[in-house]
Amino acid sequence: MKLTSASTPLNAVGSNHIVQTVNIVQNKEQIPGSAVEIKSADSLSPIANARGNFLPAKQSVEGLTADNQSGCGAGEAGVDLENLKPVGFINGKPVFVVPTTTVLNTKSGFGHKLLCDFLTITAGSACVFSCAFCYVITLLQKNKYIKAILGETRLNFSDIIVRREYPVPRLREQLTSRGKPKFKHPCDNRVCYGSPLVDVAATMDLVKETVEMCLVILELTNWQIRLLSKSPLLLQVAERIPAEFKPRMIYGFSTGTLDVGMGNAIEKGTGLVSKRIEALHTLQDRGYRTYGMACPVLPQPDMKQYAVQMAQALRLDKCEDVWVEILNSRDDSMAATEKALRKGGFCSQADLFAEATRTAKDREDYARETFLAFAEVIPAKKLHFLQYVNKNTLRWWSKRKQRGAVLLGKAVPQAAY
Ligand code: SF4
Repeated sequence: MKLTSASTPLNAVGSNHIVQTVNIVQNKEQIPGSAVEIKSADSLSPIANARGNFLPAKQSVEGLTADNQSGCGAGEAGVDLENLKPVGFINGKPVFVVPTTTVLNTKSGFGHKLLCDFLTITAGSACVFSCAFCYVITLLQKNKYIKAILGETRLNFSDIIVRREYPVPRLREQLTSRGKPKFKHPCDNRVCYGSPLVDVAATMDLVKETVEMCLVILELTNWQIRLLSKSPLLLQVAERIPAEFKPRMIYGFSTGTLDVGMGNAIEKGTGLVSKRIEALHTLQDRGYRTYGMACPVLPQPDMKQYAVQMAQALRLDKCEDVWVEILNSRDDSMAATEKALRKGGFCSQADLFAEATRTAKDREDYARETFLAFAEVIPAKKLHFLQYVNKNTLRWWSKRKQRGAVLLGKAVPQAAY
């Protein structure tokens, strides 16, 4: 099994570092059934590692160090790494394409978050963006391809982009049986969410790919589709989907931090939060279905005031639902976020963050304060406050389900879902 092949390149943009020819990307071509185009290959750096694979040159990838330890052993993955090469770069991050038979998950845990009816789609496994608080690696730690890529390149998860091979035809395959739609019942109006692992509108090529995937779903099912992005380019997705499907599309932008500078400090490569809010308002003004995603909400000097500000920014009355979540402790999310805040010059915010997240009790207090503030502002029928609970906190949160608390984690009795 190969990780990438010479014939399955993805978009290669962003790097101005030159290189000799690498035999994986030729001139402009297209992945069959996909909008993602292949561009120039001359952005690949021919720095071969011990196994003869091409790795990004240290100086060619801003902010990356090729000596970063990923901690994952490629050998254990049992994957043939012979052709492990980035097929290009997006925003300076190397892009890998991995084989897959699935882009649609019909039993996704995201159903418990009420974002969908246990249906999710994803065309990628590692995002174009790099958020300090991103927890996706915790979902993919056992994935053999991710382990192989990280082990081989010694890059961190946030330093790579992983795309899935031929996502559009794969999706069509999953939605049909012998050429006929499998899920076309007129009463099957379930909500499918994209994406649980990557941003769906990070670049224009990904916008086109997302549109293609949506069109396949819209044609072959009667499902609704909920999309989430940290890029104003999501507006372009909406504009490319024919008007007849407008009632089945729901759009949201992730906007946990309303301060533009602070957003830039903890999210790398994303669209300015002000532009996301602007795009949200444009969609609302044009009659699109929208929802809010205030995630992650960092500790605030005045959480009540922040909840009011957030509701105003999202235009609460025009959002069908609003999800809110604090920053959860996963992998090194806490330390990375604090560090990013300090590096960005937001020292008082970093101090507040450190103080509010030092112990389990501090984190619980931060969660409860955030919930109570947002529950004051957002009606219970719209609020979905995502909260991981344990056996000690289950009772408190269970009593707040009527006000919008959504309980998550192993401590939640299955019957409660
Ligand atoms: S946009 Fe989402 S998936 Fe992408 S890096 Fe940020 S948190 Fe992770």
